[in-house]
Amino acid sequence: QYNHRATPRLPSRPLTAQEELFLTLPEADRIHENLRVYTSEAHLAGTESDYAQAVWTKDRFEEYGIEAELSTYYPLLNYPIHRSLALISGPEELRYEASLREDPVEEDETSLNPDAVPTFHGYSKNGTAKGRVIYANYGTLKDFQFLVDQGVEVQGTIALMRYGGSFRGLKLRAAEKFGCVGALIYSDPIDDGALNKEGFPFMHDAKPYPEGPWRSESSAQRGSVQYLSLLAGDPLTPGYAATKDAPRIKREDSPAMTQIPSLPLSFRDALPLLKATQGHGVIREEDWKGGLDSIDYYSGPTLGEVELVNHVDDKITPIWNVIGRINGTDEADKAVIIGNHRDAWVYGAVDPSSGSSVLLEIARSFGELLKTGWKPRRTIIFGSWDAEEYGLVGSTEWVEDNREWLDKEGAVYVNMDTAVSGVHFEASASPSLNPLLYEITKHVTDPRTNLNVYDAWSNITTEGKGGKPVVGKLGSGSDFTAFLDHLGITSVDVSFHGDYGVYHSNYDSFHWMEKFGDPTFEYHAAMARIAGSLVLRLADERVLPLYPTDYAAELIKYTADIEKYAGKTFSELHGALKRMVRRSNRFENTLGRLEKKLAKYSDLKDSELPEDLAAQVATVNEQLVRFERGFLDPKGIQSRPWFKHVVYAPSLWEGYSSQTFAAIAEAVDENDDKQVDYAAHRAAKFIKKASKSLKSHDSHH
Ligand code: GLU
Ligand code: CA
Ligand code: ZN
Ligand code: ZN
Repeated sequence: QYNHRATPRLPSRPLTAQEELFLTLPEADRIHENLRVYTSEAHLAGTESDYAQAVWTKDRFEEYGIEAELSTYYPLLNYPIHRSLALISGPEELRYEASLREDPVEEDETSLNPDAVPTFHGYSKNGTAKGRVIYANYGTLKDFQFLVDQGVEVQGTIALMRYGGSFRGLKLRAAEKFGCVGALIYSDPIDDGALNKEGFPFMHDAKPYPEGPWRSESSAQRGSVQYLSLLAGDPLTPGYAATKDAPRIKREDSPAMTQIPSLPLSFRDALPLLKATQGHGVIREEDWKGGLDSIDYYSGPTLGEVELVNHVDDKITPIWNVIGRINGTDEADKAVIIGNHRDAWVYGAVDPSSGSSVLLEIARSFGELLKTGWKPRRTIIFGSWDAEEYGLVGSTEWVEDNREWLDKEGAVYVNMDTAVSGVHFEASASPSLNPLLYEITKHVTDPRTNLNVYDAWSNITTEGKGGKPVVGKLGSGSDFTAFLDHLGITSVDVSFHGDYGVYHSNYDSFHWMEKFGDPTFEYHAAMARIAGSLVLRLADERVLPLYPTDYAAELIKYTADIEKYAGKTFSELHGALKRMVRRSNRFENTLGRLEKKLAKYSDLKDSELPEDLAAQVATVNEQLVRFERGFLDPKGIQSRPWFKHVVYAPSLWEGYSSQTFAAIAEAVDENDDKQVDYAAHRAAKFIKKASKSLKSHDSHH
């Protein structure tokens, strides 16, 4: 019913000399050495070694011929002082005290100090909790409701939950909602260990570290327990930059802060608690059972009480982004931004140093292009973000601080984070970037198969036979969030994934990467080629390679999904979509004709083009940038106004995954019919606004 057809306008064309050259520049060995530096020390946000690595990063940018500066903010962070966990009453034989430590591994040098950064939760509540323990599965709302329905006492207990599914902070939010006084989250081997069934099809080696790449018995997953679906960035400065003298709200008043203490646990430390729930409460066979076979996963509560001590130092303290910059020529007032975070929970070889090491090699490669006399058409910005791990803090504060010019000039944001943990290419993006992603990956070789990355990627994720590989939806959990969800900047996130079982542990180390992740560093080099080529095209192509027709096609799917979920039809939304389909088709036909005319002038600067053509280029590029901004509702989503995109938001109770048309979905969940209609009306209104930005100025049509 939508009369949607693909336009003849596609990004395929032979590579330019510049692009050919760029692909030859990234070197695996250099990335290997970058990673050695980043992983030589723990570099937790706000620490001395983090600062030293910020300065080192800035020095590298400058060495490569790219101007760079530190951008400093002052968010709330917390650091562990003292933690303990013990079963202190009940049957004598069940009592125990948790070790809360990851065993040193002889062959992995940096793991020999298990206290480099103790196992704790970022933004966890300072304090002590005492109570009986219940096992609450993944800690979803449904899991807690099940316990209540079964008559299990939940109020006043400490919830023991397993990692998996939802973001850890949202597990705490659910536990608090049901009256728990403390929270423990452990890595069950079936979800976050060697029994993981979702291993990738290649190199699957299901053994715990150091024999295999998976989480071992003493290993715990650190991580933030911020409510990431409610707010990103510094919890004390919602919506504005955490500059030195900024006004601040109190931690207790922040919408994103938990009020109950918590700790992450290894399964070795969780097992005695699960033993203490044995025979108490209920069992739910089908979906509550993990991979530990000495217990039956009873709910409890335990007979005895647990004392959980989480003594942390809450402090407002500086963090350091590094911002590199290459000024554009003909369109200097449009910026293509590439970023990844630099801070890590401990050494962070995969998360995020694989990305940091690749980012530096991309910068060096651009430096080499500069030496040949090349300059980008648009401005290129490199962001090495700090304090992502606590809550996307560095990128979000920078976005909030630079809101005005980013709104005007920010064209596209390219994100990397855990850039390389294996061989399996993945991308999530604003749909207008899909054609470019397909095009770029066709020009890069997949080191393992010698196919191009596009074909290797298709072989794994194709939606049906002969279809294109699947590009995911951006949810949250990394630094694209503020760009896309708060400012409406078209964004993409790319990575190579594999059997990555040491996430946020002491073992996410240089040794792990050399032994399991990418022993030859060829996937790092491939990532530098992919992300770098994306930036190069986005910065240099005369007409921005963005494709609103692909966005419209996705919106049709999301609309079908939300109508199914709501059990009703949203006619205004359909009207808006029809208009978008019509406008985007017409617009891209116009661009196709324009691109054809421009082809014969490819060597000329804009100032040397026929005047009407130059004017048209400027206009359509502005339209392509405005397009995604159109989706921003200045009021935001009712439950979480910082999130302003009417199409994309992190799902409220899962966090990492994307919920499309979240405001409508949430109103459906609340059974609030009026709000459902209102949210659908807002979605339609801003889809119309996005379409309006594509209004044709082509006099021939
Ligand atoms: N990427 C980090 C994580 O998943 C931080 C996400 C956040 O707190 O927003 O733990
Ligand atoms: Ca802020
Ligand atoms: Zn990360
Ligand atoms: Zn992380």
